[in-house]
Amino acid sequence: QAKMSRPVQARRLEGIEKNIWVEFVKLAATYSTVNLGQGFPDFPPPDFLKEAFTRALSGENHMLHQYTRGFGHPPLVKILAQFFGKLLGRDLDPMTNVMVTVGAYQALFCCFQAFVDAGDEVIIIEPFFDCYEPMVKMAGGTSVFVPLRPKAPKDGKLMSSADWQLDPAELASKFSERTKAIVLNSPNNPLGKVFSRGELELIADLCVKHDVLCISDEVYEWLVYDGKEHIRIASLRGMWDRTVIIGSAGKTFSATGWKVGWTVGPNRLLQHLRTTHQNSVYHCATVAQEAVAQGFQRELELYGKPESYFIQLPKMLQQKRDWLVQSLDAVGMKPIVPEGTYFLVADISEFKSDVPDVPDSDDPYDSRFAKWMVKNKGLAAIPLSAFYCESHKNNYNHFIRFCFAKEEATLKAANDILQKWKREKTSP
Ligand code: PMP
Repeated sequence: QAKMSRPVQARRLEGIEKNIWVEFVKLAATYSTVNLGQGFPDFPPPDFLKEAFTRALSGENHMLHQYTRGFGHPPLVKILAQFFGKLLGRDLDPMTNVMVTVGAYQALFCCFQAFVDAGDEVIIIEPFFDCYEPMVKMAGGTSVFVPLRPKAPKDGKLMSSADWQLDPAELASKFSERTKAIVLNSPNNPLGKVFSRGELELIADLCVKHDVLCISDEVYEWLVYDGKEHIRIASLRGMWDRTVIIGSAGKTFSATGWKVGWTVGPNRLLQHLRTTHQNSVYHCATVAQEAVAQGFQRELELYGKPESYFIQLPKMLQQKRDWLVQSLDAVGMKPIVPEGTYFLVADISEFKSDVPDVPDSDDPYDSRFAKWMVKNKGLAAIPLSAFYCESHKNNYNHFIRFCFAKEEATLKAANDILQKWKREKTSP
């Protein structure tokens, strides 16, 4: 008789109960023999990082098992300030210009909580890392979407992520006095697009003109290929003062499970992130922060040298990318060649006959295709529509995203599945 009858769910959670990762991680765990779905490497982090963790864990300094400074373990914020100070060409104060978070995910959460009020709009470029939208909603704001529009590649060439571009007039039309922030993710998950200087200047000029903040998710900053350059929007004119840079040790050092992330920016912005952080998470594991600090210390010493992990990792991943591009192209699952990240989006149109369309289904076609593929072929990937808002999902429903940060054997096993599938299609 003491059963509760009043509604318990806060209104801000309405409509965001479903989560693509919860759903597809479970499907992959149940059915996949080869998992190219969720974005994490199946190879180990570099030895120097694992050794740093082991030293932090079992060394003399037992205080590394205790709480550390809430806004970031001092050795980590110090080295991040030095490292990013060098990259940005400005003096950074470790205590006020850097804050450590529980992965880039919490950094994003802090940004939306700290800056977005009811009635505020946040511009999100599609396709986007899916958590931006529910996080804006939880903060009481409204997301305004602007898609990257694909252009047909030149005859005979594979499409590149660079062929997906913003329409300048369309982007400009999304800015208004309600716009509080824009989220930029370059290199972009899921396409692997690396925004060019021209594209970043276009965004920067609009931010300055409309006095808008930029939440710059740069977790794949080291993963750029073919000699491309990752340009930090905070380094463009007028942008430092209005930009929060977000990074992730998970992506930087191939250790996604450690969940160490950070924000870099001016104190006038970071002070509000600290307010959110101190009233929610407080801090992340001290030993992991200590090990990441040592990883950055090594990388600062080796900066630009061939032994640097930030040079070696993209070199290794570019080979894996090329391998997967070839493998998909050979079976007719047309790859969009990514300029960055460890993701690759491929066109499934030629495989549509295997998974018939169900018009008017609530589940977009690519989502049903990806579920069918993992259940029937054992190969896990993520539907591209998951990276679009509800009303745009069906415009981009014939692509799936693969993660290629995988051991050679994993990529070979994926290739075997695709080849066999192709043979079955052509000789029924
Ligand atoms: N931003 C983007 C674009 C991502 O792809 C991810 C992870 N997939 C994150 C943020 C979250 O990073 P972390 O694991 O450090 O929380």
